Amino acid sequence: MPETQIAPMTTADHIARLRPYVPGKPIEEVQRELGLTDVIKLASNENPLGPSPHALTALLQVASGIALYPEGSAPALRRAVAEAQQMPEETLVFGNGSDEVLHLLAQTYLQPGDEIIQGDPSFTMYGIYALQMNAVAVKVPLKNYTHDLEAMADAVTEKTRIIFIANPNNPTGTLVRRAEVEKFLDRVPAHVLVVLDEAYDEYVSDPDKPDLRPYILEGRNIMVLHTFSKAFGLAGLRVGYGITRPEIAEVLNRVRSPFNVNVPAQAAAAAAIADTDHVARTVELNAHGRNYFNAEFEKMGLAYVPSEGNFVLVDVGRDSREVFEALQHKGVIVRAAHGMGLPNHIRVSTGTMPQNERFIAALREVLR
Ligand SMILES: *Cc1c(COP(=O)(O)O)cnc(C)c1O
Repeated sequence: MPETQIAPMTTADHIARLRPYVPGKPIEEVQRELGLTDVIKLASNENPLGPSPHALTALLQVASGIALYPEGSAPALRRAVAEAQQMPEETLVFGNGSDEVLHLLAQTYLQPGDEIIQGDPSFTMYGIYALQMNAVAVKVPLKNYTHDLEAMADAVTEKTRIIFIANPNNPTGTLVRRAEVEKFLDRVPAHVLVVLDEAYDEYVSDPDKPDLRPYILEGRNIMVLHTFSKAFGLAGLRVGYGITRPEIAEVLNRVRSPFNVNVPAQAAAAAAIADTDHVARTVELNAHGRNYFNAEFEKMGLAYVPSEGNFVLVDVGRDSREVFEALQHKGVIVRAAHGMGLPNHIRVSTGTMPQNERFIAALREVLR
């Protein structure tokens, strides 16, 4: 018998330090764990109306073609997005969710010891991808729940490579406005890439929201990120994209895996972006949901952060993990913001009106 050779693998130090992303709990998991049947999820900012019917039709049409690899450059989707965004096709880079585009940015531009700057709290994946590259995530506290762009510009060093701004921010729902962002861009050195993550752009009602497309056309180091996971209702298919200088898009295209956006995802996303009626219905439902939540929180005496997204952050006045658990036992999944430095806040996505009412009724009981 040859001697068996068993030895533990040594994980790289910077990977050993990583903590996994905590997603919203899936409905099925809560059903299994708690023996509940009727469970609703208002935890991941998904679209309660589901996908556009046109997207579903497009998906079914290509279903029989999935024995073949997709076209890596996603030409039909590229045309549809270029038209919707009024930007040249070569400014676009597609990902398996906008998450993958964030990952590509980290892989492409971050070396060990480099720095990224992000708000705190903000979308946690910015920091996770930076740590995966052994880079440093510099976290600048929000001011009044909003990105403090002055402080973020002050935090730039020679090692800064990328600044991430989620606009509206997740988990707070706050927006930084056009004039503020333009002033910020004047202060950021030209070699630093500024990423404006507009995952919730469709929901924004503020007319002063920034539009960085002209800056991209001028050749500035900027990326605007979009996703099909939120207002377009395609979270399960995984598609997102960045709009950026063609030179940056070209480099990222070399880094991405060749077939990163799959056949049904390309087809459904191209149909979804053309269905402006479905987005309008989605935005209208969300506006009702936000107003309803705000009014109910006021009646309950709870402080909330007015949101430009499809979720609201609310101070429940006690450990949010307990409230999260208690709501879950009533079949309502929300997100506890405890791990994001907001120990007494929960983040709740807007759902259908019956779902919204069920959440409010459950919250009243839990806090009684
Ligand atoms: C949901 C979300 C994303 C990720 O979306 P995917 O396209 O599903 O990967 C990116 N940024 C922010 C701020 C988000 O909330």
